[in-house]
Amino acid sequence: MPIRHSIKQSLSRAAWHAYNTYRKGLDYNTQFSRTAEILGAPRETIQAFQKQRLEALLQHAYQTTPYYRESLKAAHFDISQIPPLEKQDIREQLDKLYSTTFTRKQRIRNATGGSTGTPLTFYQDRNYWNQRNLSVYYFDQWAGWNFGEPQLVIWGALADLEADRHWKHRFNNYWRNQHWLNGFHLTDTAMSAAFEKMHQDQPQTILAYPSSLYQFAKFIFENSLTPLGKLKGIIASAEMLHPHYRTLAETVFKTKVYNRYGSREVGLIAMECAEGRMHINCRDLYLEIDSPDPYTEPGEILITQLNNYAMPFIRYRIGDVGLLSDEMCPCGNALPVFAELLGRTTATFRAKSGALIHGGYFTQQFYDIDGVTQFQIIQESLKHCVLKVVTNEKWTEATRRYLVQSIQDVLGTTVVVTVELVDNIPPSLSGKREYTISKVDTDVDNLQKP
Ligand SMILES: [Zn+2]
Repeated sequence: MPIRHSIKQSLSRAAWHAYNTYRKGLDYNTQFSRTAEILGAPRETIQAFQKQRLEALLQHAYQTTPYYRESLKAAHFDISQIPPLEKQDIREQLDKLYSTTFTRKQRIRNATGGSTGTPLTFYQDRNYWNQRNLSVYYFDQWAGWNFGEPQLVIWGALADLEADRHWKHRFNNYWRNQHWLNGFHLTDTAMSAAFEKMHQDQPQTILAYPSSLYQFAKFIFENSLTPLGKLKGIIASAEMLHPHYRTLAETVFKTKVYNRYGSREVGLIAMECAEGRMHINCRDLYLEIDSPDPYTEPGEILITQLNNYAMPFIRYRIGDVGLLSDEMCPCGNALPVFAELLGRTTATFRAKSGALIHGGYFTQQFYDIDGVTQFQIIQESLKHCVLKVVTNEKWTEATRRYLVQSIQDVLGTTVVVTVELVDNIPPSLSGKREYTISKVDTDVDNLQKP
């Protein structure tokens, strides 16, 4: 490794340590080894730990949240008798879901524009975030990541479009030793520059949206480029990793792609190991399948988040479907694994200019919109887009204009955007809800499967 790289790596590792220790207030070394110890423990140890955390959470929820006081009492503290928490419950009863032991200041606001089509605002506490980060650090190491080692990140970067946040974004990338390629807006020029930068920085890992990773791999393949250096692994996260995305990326980058499954509401849910199985993060979550037999019949995934005491999520219906396996994984890790996992999909759109726009760009526009209960965006052609919205009393003309404008910002100012106010948005024929649909050929997985 060139000396310049190894100095930067050491500095970045020190910065990570300072960030965790001082900024996040963690007794970092102890906490991280404790995290690794639990996630790598024998099955009985993990289950005992999880059971204890679950009981503590239920007690806390009963004592400090009006919402769960009623439902836990009715269920006699049997979690399987508590009605699942729906997104609609969060929208309508947010103030009953907070724990009364947290002040307004101690609650950290978070929101999802909804790759699931339902914009949602919710709250987490500092401990939730610390624990969430510890788990991400632990599981990313399965894919070869380590503190301070250079990483290429292909992720949605709204910051790139908002000049005032640009310096902060660059500063964070610098000390984390990350190079950022905006996955929302992949142009040939940007991909070409990122490829050059890969040669200079020699990243050890890539973290990417699966569809953006596929785009980048396809660009490299079609231009007969050869990546230099040796990647340890690729982490694909935030949407479905289709088999053909994986195949192309693994061929082009000559390394394994690791699927990471998580969400803004509850954190990291599962991570793929070297043997290709998705292990469930039982340290942070208690996961159930809403099905008569979770080992033979797939069902909707219900998540109980064990660390977020500011606003407990108990049996939260996340919107994905799974099936459990009762096998022990040959990799040696004892965390239970999924037999099957059907996640969400995000479409890729093509702008009039020819540029590809990741569907996540559109769903992010809904982060701070209160007037929309549900939405679906459909690109009918290069010139026409339909935005279907289920609105509520907070919907205004200004919201409509803002949404039309943000679509035109990336697809082209002359694109006609029809906004349809509808009563509901039914799922597709497959039963799966698709919130970003493009009928324009982009050679990414936009085809709606029957
Ligand atoms: Zn495994």
